[in-house]
Amino acid sequence: MSKYWSDFVHHLEPYVPGEQPKIERLVKLNTNEHPLGPSPKVIEVIRAGADERLRLYPDPDSSQLKQAIADYYSGKGHDIKRSQVFVGNGSDEVLAHLFMGFFKQDEPLLFPDITYSFYKVYCGLYQIDYQAVPLNAELAIDVGDYLDGEKPRPNGGIIFPNPNAPTGRLLPLSEIERLLQANTESLVVIDEAYIDFGGDTAISLVNRYPNLLVTQTLSKSRSLAGLRIGLAVGDEALIDGLNRIKDSFNSYPLDQLAIAAGAAAFEDQEWFAQGCELVISQRDWLNEKLAARGFESLPSAANFLFTFHPQHSGSSLAQGLREQGIILRHFGKPERIADYLRITVGTVEQNQALIEALDTLL
Ligand SMILES: *Cc1c(COP(=O)(O)O)cnc(C)c1O
Repeated sequence: MSKYWSDFVHHLEPYVPGEQPKIERLVKLNTNEHPLGPSPKVIEVIRAGADERLRLYPDPDSSQLKQAIADYYSGKGHDIKRSQVFVGNGSDEVLAHLFMGFFKQDEPLLFPDITYSFYKVYCGLYQIDYQAVPLNAELAIDVGDYLDGEKPRPNGGIIFPNPNAPTGRLLPLSEIERLLQANTESLVVIDEAYIDFGGDTAISLVNRYPNLLVTQTLSKSRSLAGLRIGLAVGDEALIDGLNRIKDSFNSYPLDQLAIAAGAAAFEDQEWFAQGCELVISQRDWLNEKLAARGFESLPSAANFLFTFHPQHSGSSLAQGLREQGIILRHFGKPERIADYLRITVGTVEQNQALIEALDTLL
């Protein structure tokens, strides 16, 4: 605290990221990073770009990366143009821009009560009014809770992750479309940080719904959390709006190396597919082993499991595992998820180490 702070800074409630410990050899299953490294082609491109050209500013439009993203999704049959893509310094920055630019409205923003905790932080930062919509008894998003019969509940926008975080539960695309059909007067943002681990992207809907914006990140399924690249895909008019905000904040959110590396990550589809497959098969393995030990996990379409043990508190398990060098995420609140642990799917060896540590503990 300092007398030089404004009252506004004094009252901010910042996001608390998962720990990035300096100790090596920890089994780190706490921040949903990918267990394998990025595509070797990504590393190659970064090495090749580390030269005197770094004296120049990067392309402020990141065209090469936007084109690679448009080509990737067009190749999947979704007909996305480069002008429908926005990129930023991690999807957190993309989210920050769209909260600031699109969600400050007369009616409150709606999002789930249990969800990515950064949404509330942005509402504080940009002074956006919001209402938390409780997840249902199965800790799932029920689109009906955002509607009032055929009509939407009054709102200045709707946002949720799909799959949701930290639950990992997936909402089928048909339910997202049901929401879009009813809710035509405000922006709907689907945060697809984890979509590649088991869901169908709502990018397939952006050409039919001009109020739909889909955000994604290269931090999880493309194993580039350290490079900071996120994106949004939507109607050109929404992307124009995001560009106006970006160019009023920082014209060069992505550096030269990130632009080239991000493009390479979208081009190497084989590496990407293999990485996702490994995570999915290890998720199934971990799920089975946890169930055999009495854990109850929500069905996950993400690269993590959200789980609890009826006979052990979440905090005692998290503490016991930490003492054995394994870290995971225990949020501890709200009440409904107080005993849940969020466990990132690791490598084969890490997942085995986790199960062995649990066997010692239980
Ligand atoms: C990880 C995550 C993000 C942020 O991703 P970055 O691109 O690393 O900033 C956004 N939303 C959700 C739901 C996430 O889990």
